[in-house]
Amino acid sequence: MKPLQDSFSRVIDYLRLSITDRCNLRCLYCMPSEGVLPLQHGDILSYEEIIRIVEIAARLGVKKVRLTGGEPLTRRNITFLISSIKKIPGIEDLSMTTNGLLLEKYAQEIAEAGLDRVNVSIDSFKPERYREITRKGSLETVKSGLVAAEKAGLKPIKINMVPIRGLNDDEIMDFARLTLTTEYHVRFIECMPSGDIDFWSPDRYITTDELKHAIEAISPLTPVRMRKHGPSKYYRLSGAKGVIGFISALTHHFCEDCNRLRLTADGKLRPCLFSETEIDLKSSLRSGAPDEEIERLLMLSIQIKPEGHSLGGEKESRFLSMKGNMMPETAHSPEKRPMSRIGG
Ligand code: SAM
Ligand code: SF4
Repeated sequence: MKPLQDSFSRVIDYLRLSITDRCNLRCLYCMPSEGVLPLQHGDILSYEEIIRIVEIAARLGVKKVRLTGGEPLTRRNITFLISSIKKIPGIEDLSMTTNGLLLEKYAQEIAEAGLDRVNVSIDSFKPERYREITRKGSLETVKSGLVAAEKAGLKPIKINMVPIRGLNDDEIMDFARLTLTTEYHVRFIECMPSGDIDFWSPDRYITTDELKHAIEAISPLTPVRMRKHGPSKYYRLSGAKGVIGFISALTHHFCEDCNRLRLTADGKLRPCLFSETEIDLKSSLRSGAPDEEIERLLMLSIQIKPEGHSLGGEKESRFLSMKGNMMPETAHSPEKRPMSRIGG
């Protein structure tokens, strides 16, 4: 099959599905403490609708699917969705991003249903602090989830960590050292100005360059070429079993390697995380559109995928150095659509 390409010759083979906007945590950088107004049940795509979209996308050339949210493991009967997507011809890789709270309970059954691997978001290995950042999570439960995921073969396990100055930056080296003794892929994600509008500030934000510089005190970081690396740039500490990834949405655009489309929980196709442009698939699905029309809308979203976002551009550089607390005009507006609804 000819690969699916956008207007800038990027191969688009990855679909991220936000399957729910609900979450059992309230991470400081992602949601306000009271949460966000949940979508009505009827506004959320049904599993049948999601599966139909993935079938059509797979016929066009999508090979990788990630389930995210909100917290994907809070959606009922997720094993049905996993096993149905796994059976779709052309889907080679099915993964999930989760906060891990429900992994102990579900790891075995989601692995048996066909999930290949998980990314687990953990921003601190200190129980009190973990609770502070997530506002209600139990680190012990997540750690049991990690053990269960490993046992169930959901590997390689990727740990997503958002470093925030004054909050968990003293743990950056511990997270990096974790790769010396485990096969984890530890990924540091630059905190983005999305989610809780009041939380993000240049004072809290840590750049990838700063992180790398600090981590190199352990040992040099050798670049690692991964087969499917996506937005992460990977490195290995000397003699390490695992690898360290950096996802630098603000300071090092990865737009030239962007291979993804996003589908929001309420059925909007989003060509770029940082653009408000969306294509409404749900209305077409619910008005009886034939597969050809869904295909056309998928192709349209690929054609209009922007070349890049302008976060971290000149304006944001000035903004970052100003140490003020305003939002970059080009950042996606957290009030309009929080990360938990787009699917981070
Ligand atoms: N609830 C699941 C979880 O936390 O893994 C999946 C959804 S969450 C929105 C996906 C990822 O987005 C998490 O790794 C989270 O840390 C990240 N994320 C959320 N808000 C972010 C922000 N403002 N900046 C950087 N990463 C963010
Ligand atoms: Fe929930 Fe994930 Fe957002 Fe935390 S980052 S509030 S776990 S959706």
